[in-house]
Amino acid sequence: MSVQDLQRRLTALGYQAGPADGVRGPKTIAAVKAFQEAVGLVVDGIAGPQTMAALKQAETPAKPRRPEPDKSAMAQPVPSQETYGRATPPPNVSSLRLLDTARPINEIIWHCTATPEGRDFTVNDIRAWHKQRGWSDIGYHYIVYRDGRIMPGRPVGQVGAHVSGHNTGTIGCSYVGGVSADGKTAKDTRTGPQRASMLWLTAQLAKKFQIAKISGHNEYAAKACPSFDVRKDELSRLL
Ligand SMILES: [Zn+2]
Repeated sequence: MSVQDLQRRLTALGYQAGPADGVRGPKTIAAVKAFQEAVGLVVDGIAGPQTMAALKQAETPAKPRRPEPDKSAMAQPVPSQETYGRATPPPNVSSLRLLDTARPINEIIWHCTATPEGRDFTVNDIRAWHKQRGWSDIGYHYIVYRDGRIMPGRPVGQVGAHVSGHNTGTIGCSYVGGVSADGKTAKDTRTGPQRASMLWLTAQLAKKFQIAKISGHNEYAAKACPSFDVRKDELSRLL
């Protein structure tokens, strides 16, 4: 794709890429970086394959968040509450877009970041740890912060790196925490907002994709991750 085309597409998405002059100058690079930041990619200003894939996804029109209100709908409980119990939207729901992908996805696998209870870590922290392992990007597709915010990780259109032998066909989600404050013992450290957001995210993904199974990393490996049994959790009752 030409630089001019890139400039036009970024501008159309609301990024200040400058005039479509075909010159990859500071404005264009800044716009690429702003876009990468917004979609949770590595911010390097280079429009590589991951950035181009995310750009294509961002250009796909979002489905309306809720149907047009009408009398019958208003008389009924909101479907997500009725169907999913405590699946309340996360605090950053207005800025969160769950992207579509043609990649076949039939399972959601939950993880924890294996970080101590009570401590916050960002997508960029986790990305740095995973890149230290030699991975191209963060291994998870979604990360749920302690305050309930849901952050995009690796674009869902790309195969993740979260469960050996089960990355194809799955979405990897992780909550921040999973270990006691001393950093040694596996512990279900999910906060109330995290539980609510995990339910909400799982419910949204289950609606968007043909999800047949919701599982935890510990069902596939001799690990504690995500420090609880998804099969006995309300998460597994969403299907
Ligand atoms: Zn895991």
